This record gives sequence, C-alpha cells and structure tokens, in this order.
Amino acid sequence: ERPRILDDEEGGVLFYNAAPASSSGYGHASMEKQRQRLPVFKYRTAILYLVETHATTIVVGETGSGKTTQIPQYLKEAGWAEGGRVIGCTQPRRLAVQSVASRVAEEMGVKLGEEVGYTIRFEDVTTAGVTSIKFLTDGVLLREMMDDPLLMKYSVIMVDEAHERSLSTDILLGLLKKVQKRRPELRVVISSATIEAKTMADFFRGRKRRGSDNDVQGPNTEPAILSVEGRGFNVHVHYLEEPVSDYVRATVSTILSINERERMGDILVFLTGQDDIEAATQMLNDETHHNARKSSGLIILPLYSGLPRGDQDLIFSPTPRGKRKVVLSTNIAETSLTLEGIVYVVDSGFSKQRFYNPVTDIENLVVAPISKASARQRAGRAGRVRPGKCYRLYTEEYFLNEMATEGIPEMQRTNLVSCVIQLKALGIDNILGFDWPASPSPEAMIRALEILYSLGILDDDAKLTSPIGFQVAEIPLDPMVAKMIISSHELGCSEEIITIAAVLSIQSIWASVWGSQKQLDEAKLRFAAAEGDHVTFLNVYKGFLQSGKSSQWCQRNFVNYHAMKKVIEVRDQLKRVALRLGLSLKSCDRDLQVLRKAVTAGFFANACRLEPYSHNGMYKTVRTSQEVYIHPSSVLFRVNPKWIIYHALVSTDRQYARNVISIEPSWLTEIAPHFYNSKERAL
Ligand code: ADP
Ligand code: MG
Repeated sequence: ERPRILDDEEGGVLFYNAAPASSSGYGHASMEKQRQRLPVFKYRTAILYLVETHATTIVVGETGSGKTTQIPQYLKEAGWAEGGRVIGCTQPRRLAVQSVASRVAEEMGVKLGEEVGYTIRFEDVTTAGVTSIKFLTDGVLLREMMDDPLLMKYSVIMVDEAHERSLSTDILLGLLKKVQKRRPELRVVISSATIEAKTMADFFRGRKRRGSDNDVQGPNTEPAILSVEGRGFNVHVHYLEEPVSDYVRATVSTILSINERERMGDILVFLTGQDDIEAATQMLNDETHHNARKSSGLIILPLYSGLPRGDQDLIFSPTPRGKRKVVLSTNIAETSLTLEGIVYVVDSGFSKQRFYNPVTDIENLVVAPISKASARQRAGRAGRVRPGKCYRLYTEEYFLNEMATEGIPEMQRTNLVSCVIQLKALGIDNILGFDWPASPSPEAMIRALEILYSLGILDDDAKLTSPIGFQVAEIPLDPMVAKMIISSHELGCSEEIITIAAVLSIQSIWASVWGSQKQLDEAKLRFAAAEGDHVTFLNVYKGFLQSGKSSQWCQRNFVNYHAMKKVIEVRDQLKRVALRLGLSLKSCDRDLQVLRKAVTAGFFANACRLEPYSHNGMYKTVRTSQEVYIHPSSVLFRVNPKWIIYHALVSTDRQYARNVISIEPSWLTEIAPHFYNSKERAL
C-alpha cells in the first residue's frame, strides 16, 4: 500500500514520500543517528532477509530514502563482504558513482579507495583485496564481465536506478539473469525510484525451472519486491498560463521571482545540459550587476557531469545563513543525487536525450520533452525538508494531455553498435534471441551488424574477427573510435590518433565563454588547421605540453585546463590499453594524410559531401542523403571543404556536424568497399 502518492491529475497539490530532514558534516555518532533516520532503515532486517532467501530482490523507494547509500552498508554489516567478496553497486551516471562512493566512505569513516571505492571509465579508485563495497557505472561492470563473465568476485550486485532503463542497465539485467543460472549463489538487488518493479519482476521470473532445480539447495528464484515508505511533505505545483519559447530565460525570471517573494529555502533547477546551465548562470550573474536586489543572497551552483570535483562538493555543503543556493542541474539531480535543503524546484520540462533513426543511421542528442514520470520525480525533490513548491515551465493542459506517461528505454532509442560488440565479446551470438528487458528494434540491430561488418569487426558469420574484432571489444571506447586507433597502428600514426581519441572522449576542450564567443573564435584561429578539428586538437595538445601544462597558458588561449588534464589522463590509459593489445605507438610527424586516413578507417560511415551549388554550406551524408551543416564551433565552419567526415551530430534547428575533418572521396571506396558499394560508385 502506497497511500501517500496522490495523483496530481486531480488537484494542484502533490503528495510525495520523502525522507525526514537531515544534515551532514557532524561526528560519527550523529552520522549513525542520521543513518537510522532514513526511511530505508526500518526495512533493514526485511531487506537482509529477502536478499538471504531470494536470488533477486527488487527495492522500490522514493529518491532520498537511503537505497543507494545504505543497502550496500547493510549487506556488508550482514557479512556479504566476508571472505574477500565484493558488494557491487552500479549507477548509470559517472558523477553519481563518485558522489555516492565518497558519501558512503564518509559515513563508514574510511578513506575513499580502501574499503569503499569506485570505478568509472578511465578512473579506478579501488584497492584489490581491500575494497569490499564498490560503486561503478553499469558500463564498467559490463566491461569487467569480459574478463570475469560470472562476476566471481562479487557476492551481490545491486543494479541501482533501474527505472532509468539505460542501455547498459538493460544489457546488464539480461546478463545477470544468465549468470544467476550458472551461479545461483549470486544475489541481485534491483533498486528503482518508481514502480516499474512489476515489469522487472516479470522479467526475472521468466526463467524456466527444470525439475532438478528444486532439489538444489539455493535461494528462491522468485523475485521479491519490497517497497520503502517514507514520510512526505506536500509539494504545491504551479503551471504557466501560457507556454514559453525560451525556457532558459523563463527559468531565470522564475528564480528571481522566487527569491523576491518566497521565504528562505534552496532552489533546484532542471535544465538540459552544460550549455543551458552556463547561459542561465551568465544571465543570473548579469542580473547581480544590474539589479542587485532581485538576486541578493543567491549562490549559483552548476551541476552536470564533467564538473570538476571541487565544484561538486559545493553542491552538498550546507547553505550559509541568510543565503539561498540555486543549483542549476541536468536531470542528474532527478533521482541519482539527493540535495538537502531544496524547497523550490523549477522544471524546464526538458532533458537531453539520445535518439537514433535506423533508417538514416543518424543518432542525435536532442533537447526533448520529459515524461510525466520524470516531471513527478523532479517535483518530489522540493518536498524533502518541508512543504515545497514546484514551478513547471509549461502549462497544465500540456502536462495532462501531451506529456508521455513514461520515458522510452534507451535500448529503443540508440544506436546498438557498442551493445552488439559487447554481447559478442561475451560469447552471446544469438543477439536477437537474447533475453532483453525491452526488445531493441530489429532495424537498429541490422544496422549495427552492417556497420560492424563493414568495420571488419564481425565476419560473415557475425562472429568477432581475430584480431581486430577482439581488439576493438577490449578498447573502452565507441567501436568507431577503437577501429580508428587500430588502423592508426598500421598507418603509423598511433601517437597522434590516441591523442585525438582522448580529446574526442571529452565534451569540449575549449573554455566555456558564454557571451565572449568572438574572443574564443580568435583564440581558436591560433590552432586552426586546414584539415579540420582533429588536427586542430593535436595543435592544442602540443601547445599545452610545450607550456609545461600551464593553466595560465590555457586561460590565455581559451582552452579548458581541467579538460586538458583529463585528456592527458585518458591518453595515458589508452596508451596502456594499446600496448596491452600489442599496438606499438608510432608518430607520423607531419604526415597528415595518414592521420586523416586513420580517421576515415573508423568513421567512413559519417562521410558527407558538400552540395554542389550550395550557398549556405549544406552537405548531404553519402550514405542516406541527409542534410547536414558544419557546426559553428568547428574550425571548418564556413571553410566548407568538398568532402568531410564528422565525429558526431547535434541537432537543433538543423543537423550540425561536430568535430569535422576533410577527406579525399577515393579513400571511402579504398577503405570501406563493402560499405560504399555500387550505388555510390559515382564517387
Ligand atoms: P536513494 O538512493 O534512496 O535516493 P541515497 O542513499 O542516495 O537515497 O540518500 C540518502 C540520504 O543520504 C539522503 O538524505 C541524502 O541527502 C544523503 N546524502 C547522499 N549523498 C550525500 C552527500 N554526498 N552529501 C551529503 N548527504 C548525502
Ligand atoms: Mg539512489
């Protein structure tokens, strides 16, 4: 029985479950008290009993009830980490992994990286033999399965935030179901903020029992479901009378009006990404100069993945007296992280989502409307400490009649290239027959197989090729990037390509300069290469090294210092991976042609040709004749070489190609004859 979630369809008032107020930063005794005040604490015995007796336990509970931080500790206290075994807890987001791990280490009074550690791609903060509670992204756990398919070192895997239905979570759930058949002693805990538990339970129940199974001493294979009830505060929901066209501006004016009219309490704002968040921050800062009264007492804090660690800590530190925190966040604060002290929520109604069209083979990260389920989660963030308010920047009519009830699982809206290769590497050959929690579209699957075949990663029987296919699977990057690295070894430019791959794995190496675009463009010209962005990145990297990795150099050149430090780290890791795979590192010095060929070897599927007679720089993809334009952030913007290859598309009013390099068309048929077949002979 979950009586406290009243439906918002009825009145203007929502009731949410929420944890009682707590604060952090006190001694250990009071930390212990805080832990006991969390709603999940009342269920400690029940959870431990269910995990003991059931192979799979599903725990549903509102965000902030203590699922992520407490359950792994309960399991450890109950002995699940004895004998060197590890309790693993997966998260879809890297930032959540870091943040939750450091919180749990703090609660246990241990040093992060010892008993409690975490692993995200390119960052391992664990100690073998010592770490017994390990937080990791679901993607990293999938990678670990390549070396350890039955996850032998783990006693329990907690798959957290399962309601998000990320691609890796869904793959992981499918695989765990298989692993449990071979290792009945492995326990799986699935935790979720919303009541999709039944779907999950049906999924895990769907296993066939052979008669003999019942004789084996082991846990009940029927999944158990436990629902954690919390204490709730009302959240009053406000809607707009009329829709707005600029939600960033609307966000800013809503924040200012809350600050003017409402009593103290922090504000959590949901925007879509770093760009939005920076724009809003800038507008709020401008306001401080022009109209100090309206914005007095505001402490503006951005929250998005890729944020430097120091800034993350500010988010969790208590608000000074007389001040009001404004946290401008992506949907990471929707369920993954809980911030104390939030009383007001401003919901833009949007988030960035990945969408893939198998017909055009184009994947986009687009700003798209959220679902009702998300809108409810967002509003719920306001009711943790006391009754709160949620300002939705859309109309009630829109909420009721147009918003989708639930989001679409990522599995059904992304390109499946990485997913296929990971399953293949785990020896799962019949991918269409794999037991998915949500089935992927056959078209997307076929596209993925086709691309992997043309990259030389799969053979005619759809098996991984040796050595290329197996090597690609070992590289923790998109298969197209991995293929580019492997080709660079043959072409003798792996030193450079590894640098490029490291830069491409980072959102942007340029300093964010909302409002000073012109200076940034001028700074870029100092590094710009006629061949395109990839070569430009090499120039920046060289300059950074020559400066002695100086932060002043970065500042002068509009380069993001933190991003460059990350590039160096990632590059080191990639170098290690390459050496392990037997790829020697060679530099091509100034031979940019081989470098461009290596990029082509990975990304030939993204080739575009400038439309003849195009006056506005319109390109069409060679494969499917989609319209594409070079992104204004590219050094080739307005240069418009005849043939280009892009690394990714972003879609706003148009499809924009980001990170672009110019190529020769003859390379396409030379490098990818299977892909560019007779139809494109006109090349
Ligand atoms: P759930 O997983 O159910 O959403 P969590 O275990 O993440 O809940 O959070 C439980 C409590 O721990 C919350 O009250 C939250 O405020 C607190 N908490 C979590 N992380 C931190 C942190 N980094 N700093 C301070 N408090 C935190
Ligand atoms: Mg959680």
